[in-house]
Amino acid sequence: MDGVIISVAPTGSVPTREHTPHVPLTPQEIAADVYRCWQAGAAIAHIHARDAQGRPTADKAVFAEIKERIESKCDIIVMISTGGRASSLQEDRAAPLTLRPEMASLTTGSVNFPTSVYVNSPSLIEALAKEMKSLGIKPELEIFDTAMITNALDLLKKQLILAPLHFQFVMGVQGAIAATPKNLFHLVESIPPGSTWSVAGIGRAQLPMTALGLLLGGHVRVGLEDNLQYSKGVLATNQQLVERVARLAGELGRPVCSPDEARAILGLARTENT
Ligand code: MG
Repeated sequence: MDGVIISVAPTGSVPTREHTPHVPLTPQEIAADVYRCWQAGAAIAHIHARDAQGRPTADKAVFAEIKERIESKCDIIVMISTGGRASSLQEDRAAPLTLRPEMASLTTGSVNFPTSVYVNSPSLIEALAKEMKSLGIKPELEIFDTAMITNALDLLKKQLILAPLHFQFVMGVQGAIAATPKNLFHLVESIPPGSTWSVAGIGRAQLPMTALGLLLGGHVRVGLEDNLQYSKGVLATNQQLVERVARLAGELGRPVCSPDEARAILGLARTENT
């Protein structure tokens, strides 16, 4: 079977030190943790930034420091989140893209989160897609529900994103698509042939959904953004979560991709961005 690309989402917007001592928050902590995850087999780092108080921020300078610190340590693919928890303003959410990361997340629709609405209007989605295209950044289409695939195909039709597409199925957020095998089969069957896909399960769904993703030939995402626990009542580190999914991949006959192998699979032209 083909190699598996392991993404790590080390920080996200939600976890605080009160939730877990293991979440990296400062640029220094994030870069050090990403380095450990790279050593454990992660090929992509999905990056959110926090301000000095630990709150989500879209500050380009913070993203720049994280990106520089990571890239000085290892060759992992840096993916910047354009998620909206730091700011709902289009210019804020697009600002870190000018750092020209190799990849960035692009959520192609709005969705309820447990205590908020994650708003991605058609005009915002198109603007972010256009910006990514003009900067040569490959979008990871972040799919929280089935209709977001339909919206992504519409962007493809308008040539705002280019094939082959890469999808991240985020499953098990309260308010969005449930993390069930049947739903994952449906999502996988709904994307165009030639696309690549990865799956992320929220909370206790992380282990079963990534295990199923490995079996189905997909790629996988783990990390504290999605799940704080290694097992019931036991807090995880990002490194432990990467190590576990890398171990599982090995047992299931899926070699773990290096970042350069991942670049080849995803069609990233690294030299254009450096
Ligand atoms: Mg994210």
